Amino acid sequence: MERTLVILKPCTIQRMLIGEIISRFEKKGLILSGMKMIWLTDEILSEHYAHLKEKPFFQRVKDSMKIFPVVVCCWEGVDAVCVVRTITGATNGRSALPGTIRGDYSMSMQENIIHASDSLETANIELKRFFNEHELYTYNPALLPHLYANDEV
Ligand code: ADP
Repeated sequence: MERTLVILKPCTIQRMLIGEIISRFEKKGLILSGMKMIWLTDEILSEHYAHLKEKPFFQRVKDSMKIFPVVVCCWEGVDAVCVVRTITGATNGRSALPGTIRGDYSMSMQENIIHASDSLETANIELKRFFNEHELYTYNPALLPHLYANDEV
């Protein structure tokens, strides 16, 4: 099983879409290993978005992520990183495919509902950035045999 990070962005809290977005991951069959509401700082966002630091919109993106609190979640499943990225959709909500979260709920490149880790390596780094070890739980949901065949997990 893999674990991946999802951040429900401030725009999602403002638009009261938290429950709706979380339910999409639940219905897919991903297992929630951790979740909390936090208020991000410029410092942690500079680290999180370091790959964008040369972009003209770097500060604007960081500002949009610290204007309100966010909800950070850890989702677990077989190939969870790739599955969550696929469900998330393309960065620009206007071109993201219908059926994806960004395609269904966003009209924006910036205000695009969620962040999702883009590789297993990044997921491991990002989960450590936002969660302490004791905040992530390992448990076997009773419905596991109905989510996967024996040889898949
Ligand atoms: P993704 O979130 O799809 O992995 P990136 O890592 O490239 O995309 O960018 C991180 C976030 O920065 C995006 O989710 C979006 O909120 C914002 N962003 C990226 N590119 C732009 C842009 N050209 N204009 C405004 N915001 C952007």
